[in-house]
Amino acid sequence: MQVLAQVIFGVIFLIANYFMVKNILRIRKTILLGKDVSIEASSQRWKNVILIAFGQKKMFKKPLPALLHLFVYLGFLIVNLEMIEIIVDGFFGTHRVLFPLLGSLYSFCINTFEFFAAAVIVACLVFLIRRNLIKVPRFSGVEMTSKPIVDANLILVVEILLMVAFLSMNACDYLLQQAGHEHYTSVGRFFISSSLSPLFAGLSSEALVFIERFCWWFHIIGVLAFANYVFMESKHLHIFLAFVNTYFARTEPAGKLQSMESVTREVKLMLNIPVETTETTTEPGRFGAKEVNDLSWKNILDAFSCTECGRCTQQCPANLTGKKLSPRKIMMDTRRRAQDMMKGIESQGKEFSDGKSLLGDYISEGEIMACTTCNACVEACPVLINPVDIIVQLRQYKVMEESQAPASWNMMFSNVENNFAPWKFSPSDRFNWVQKLD
Ligand code: SF4
Ligand code: SF4
Repeated sequence: MQVLAQVIFGVIFLIANYFMVKNILRIRKTILLGKDVSIEASSQRWKNVILIAFGQKKMFKKPLPALLHLFVYLGFLIVNLEMIEIIVDGFFGTHRVLFPLLGSLYSFCINTFEFFAAAVIVACLVFLIRRNLIKVPRFSGVEMTSKPIVDANLILVVEILLMVAFLSMNACDYLLQQAGHEHYTSVGRFFISSSLSPLFAGLSSEALVFIERFCWWFHIIGVLAFANYVFMESKHLHIFLAFVNTYFARTEPAGKLQSMESVTREVKLMLNIPVETTETTTEPGRFGAKEVNDLSWKNILDAFSCTECGRCTQQCPANLTGKKLSPRKIMMDTRRRAQDMMKGIESQGKEFSDGKSLLGDYISEGEIMACTTCNACVEACPVLINPVDIIVQLRQYKVMEESQAPASWNMMFSNVENNFAPWKFSPSDRFNWVQKLD
């Protein structure tokens, strides 16, 4: 029986990991649909990872949700250390294999895991209440269709169930230790689970063993299923990608717009400014971006790192004044288009075409033209996502390839072209006002 359990465990573990690796590689392939950009390494990038991804610095603008999120995040990292022991026990048919190695430290570790498991339960319950009963405004919006809403709720419920299983397993284990049941090594009392043990008192040894084993299997299968789900299409990918994304995030000032190399070169030539020989002379395939693969891999990585928290949309002045623009929707649509394109490439090959494009079928002109490029969304994002970079590239396509700028902008463009300024004065007239001075 024990050997059969070990074999079943091994098969489940290997299958789950096979699919997880397959999904990770698929996400990588989808992100790399974007154009190549080189991002230089710097110490600032590591600082961002430590402060913003690990330290969750930007979350603490609102301390209470930040603290609850920190509990869930630490709980996820810390409680899953218990998985090391569960996996070793599963493969070798042992029970609490780390106890003899860690001695008294073992009790400290499990007590810490239990504290965070209880904190995760409380935090997830509060999050469910905020989403579904209090209905915090930033969790709604045109892009928050049933799929993202179910995704967010499902993960919270699963996390609660996993933590309840973990605590129940330890509570039954404690009672079985007390009863001197063979196989249940005496490892002592853990504060939270032993406090829960009266809930199971009075059950027979067989029933306790059944519940303990059920919770053990539920916990391991649940964690493996959770990991697979996250690497499919869930917003919870941010648990992992937040670290990668903060590393690769822009370190230049947010307001600095990326100029197009080929256009810069032409302007320099026009103005007789020396052009560096290293500057590219090749024609760009397309000005700006119409399709998701016109964007860079970093833009697509941004989209996959989005937590759908809505902090960007909550701060967006265009959204607040009733315009169609929601930076969260820009990121969600970019991810959806990248996923659709990947599915198409897998079924039809590299020449895939479904007659759709990111601009037009997923993101509308009205949305991108409403952006003021104020960067409030970038400032608000807890994982350093940059929706403006995508919006600007989509606009560049609209203006430079389709010549479809709003009429009010065309005047400004011709002023810049003729007067080197957005105003309707020639450079020689610019200082006429001086003549009116005494
Ligand atoms: S930069 Fe654009 S999308 Fe971002 S907050 Fe400002 S107006 Fe909204
Ligand atoms: S872009 Fe950032 S702030 Fe906006 S929803 Fe995604 S994670 Fe939240």
